Amino acid sequence: MSSTLAIDGGTPVRSAPFPQWPMAGDEEGTAIAEVLASGRWGSTHGDRVAGFEDAFARYQQAAYGICLANGTMALVAALTAMGVGPGDEVIVPAYTFVASASAVLFANAVPVFADIRADTHLIEADQVEALITPRTRAIMAVHIAGRPCDLDALMDLGARHGIPVIEDAAQAHGASWRGRRVGAIGACGTFSFQTSKNISAGEGGVVVTDDEALADEVYSMVNLGRVRGGGWYQHDRVGYNLRLTEFQAAVLTAQLGRHPQQQATRSANAAVLTSLLSDAEVVLPAEDPRVTEHGLHLFVFQVPDRDRDAVVRALTAEGIPCLAGYAGLHRNKALRHKAEQLAGLTGMPLAQWDCPVTDRVAAATIWLPHHTLLGSVEDTADIAVAVGKVLGG
Ligand SMILES: *Cc1c(COP(=O)(O)O)cnc(C)c1O
Repeated sequence: MSSTLAIDGGTPVRSAPFPQWPMAGDEEGTAIAEVLASGRWGSTHGDRVAGFEDAFARYQQAAYGICLANGTMALVAALTAMGVGPGDEVIVPAYTFVASASAVLFANAVPVFADIRADTHLIEADQVEALITPRTRAIMAVHIAGRPCDLDALMDLGARHGIPVIEDAAQAHGASWRGRRVGAIGACGTFSFQTSKNISAGEGGVVVTDDEALADEVYSMVNLGRVRGGGWYQHDRVGYNLRLTEFQAAVLTAQLGRHPQQQATRSANAAVLTSLLSDAEVVLPAEDPRVTEHGLHLFVFQVPDRDRDAVVRALTAEGIPCLAGYAGLHRNKALRHKAEQLAGLTGMPLAQWDCPVTDRVAAATIWLPHHTLLGSVEDTADIAVAVGKVLGG
């Protein structure tokens, strides 16, 4: 192999592609054809959405699951069902996908950005505590990359202040904290089934919870304000239509069945990659033994003293799928503008959004998408070879 970087015209480390995502088997095709032939395309007439809701809730060790259109609306429905509304604040990590914060605004509340831990890239209780005001109505624990937040500290903080924790687990299917699957450790949790996510139907989402009354509120938000078991034209609340189709549930049921095997492959390859990268000039996130299963939506590492974007371009040229990830949401002008509007309407003060750790992490981090970990051990070793080549050259 040439040591000239592929970006400079050398031979790439990889010529064969990594496994692509989404990934389907015969099960998806068979199930979609069955739904098509049955004529029961919607969940109001079929039973596949209900069956998947039960199966996914069980998978995450939650009592209830309510499917809906996507992970963004899962957060909106969950926050609204929790009673979040005008005049309220929700504490959200600054280092997350935009939907974690836009959902708060769609619930007519204002996001307050907490800075993250430098070593895990996750929201942390001490930063959150400093941001609590009499208007704080929820704390959002976002399990970025699939790594569970310190739910012990966040739940304890929430309990001391009487503020519920909502888990944004859009990247954390199958993840667990001290042996319990995430999602219903907080008051409720949300997942996404969008194309890139580790269980996918192209689009889709779910809210899980152990709280029956909260589950009924979410059901109502998803079903035009209807009451579970009530009349078709009985709309006791103002709700959206956010229902999933039976086609999506057919795909999701097959995807869920395949998840344990794929997760085992990702975990084994992540362990291989972690040990192969131990000699490289990269910084890996801190391990926490309380993270008993990492959801591995992303494999994360940092190149602190490098031009990160140049490293991403060079790795991509070597045939390694990778990306630079988020800028901190405290820098997003559209979120700020909408938050100012809402705060103005409700007479709330709007604090400065300042998150220096997020800025540093956002500037130095590289993500490998989860399907790069679905190949062989040799495929995985090529990632480390490419990292060594790019950083050494
Ligand atoms: C994907 C994602 C969402 C939104 O889910 P969609 O299904 O794309 O609407 C929310 N939060 C996080 C952290 C995500 O990664």
